[in-house]
Amino acid sequence: IKHGNRNGFSFFSSDLQALADKRSKIEKSLRQAVQNEEFEIYYQPLVDKQGAILGAEALLRWQSEALGWVSPAEFIPVAEESGLILPIGDWLIENACKLIKTIQCNNKHLQPKYISINISPRQFIQPQFTENLLTTLDRYEVAHNKLRIEITENVAIDNMSLTIAKMQQLNDEGIAIMLDDFGSGYSSLSYLHKLPLRTIKIDRSFITDIDTLKDNQVITSSIVDICEHFSMECIVEGVETESEFNYLSEKNITALQGYHFYKPLPAKKFLALFKGC
Ligand code: C2E
Ligand code: CA
Ligand code: CA
Ligand code: CA
Repeated sequence: IKHGNRNGFSFFSSDLQALADKRSKIEKSLRQAVQNEEFEIYYQPLVDKQGAILGAEALLRWQSEALGWVSPAEFIPVAEESGLILPIGDWLIENACKLIKTIQCNNKHLQPKYISINISPRQFIQPQFTENLLTTLDRYEVAHNKLRIEITENVAIDNMSLTIAKMQQLNDEGIAIMLDDFGSGYSSLSYLHKLPLRTIKIDRSFITDIDTLKDNQVITSSIVDICEHFSMECIVEGVETESEFNYLSEKNITALQGYHFYKPLPAKKFLALFKGC
């Protein structure tokens, strides 16, 4: 609880202290979590305009023994800063491949086309990233086009030429790259056509209330035009209502994601969607 204070500095610094304490608590528990494998992966389906499942996004969930349930928005930044995202990311890739292998054995027409995983800048810049990824895919006999990776604009902007080379290599191996949260960062349109991107995912903030918010309509339409021009797929996330969906269904969009269709599901429930395979 904040109290009025002529010298605002004292409670400001104690807020900072509280934040730092929280972070170090998370980091400590995160280290244990890696040891004890306290993580789980949820899968959120992506659908086409008819509601058919095209793919799914893998999303980390952490039920900490010490802290209870912690949201990715809180622990992912700590994992990135501490470097713990590397073992956590390896764990996720491993387990996502296991899941893809399970689905792959089933009927080709009913299975999802791909599972996408989020790759943080720290993971992506590892020199062995591509090699390790390919090794894991091969170990589980997963076809390369069954896995896609989602990266954000920050990855693309730091060290541009290295990033492009790396993306090209992944692309050549058949692993499609999706640019996530498009429009939310310090994005520069000038680099877009230089990147071998399969897909742009429009940031959720532009989809919220798009049925009524003119600003969001204009921004989203522009991004859809850009995708069309550069022959990239366009995906929208965070679709929460029927009327947002109705508005979007008139647009040239490849896939939709959001609570209106499916929430992120535990692996078991996700797999149950493909029982008929
Ligand atoms: P993101 O990559 O943008 O993932 C989409 C987020 O939007 C997920 O949050 C998802 O649960 C949420 N979402 C999906 N549909 C809706 C909707 O209709 N409305 C609203 N309000 N939200 C929706 P989540 O799972 O909490 O993840 C948050 C962020 O944490 C992710 O954002 C991603 O940046 C990061 N993250 C999650 N899992 C991983 C991971 O395995 N690795 C890395 N590096 N980052 C991850
Ligand atoms: Ca994502
Ligand atoms: Ca996103
Ligand atoms: Ca995000």
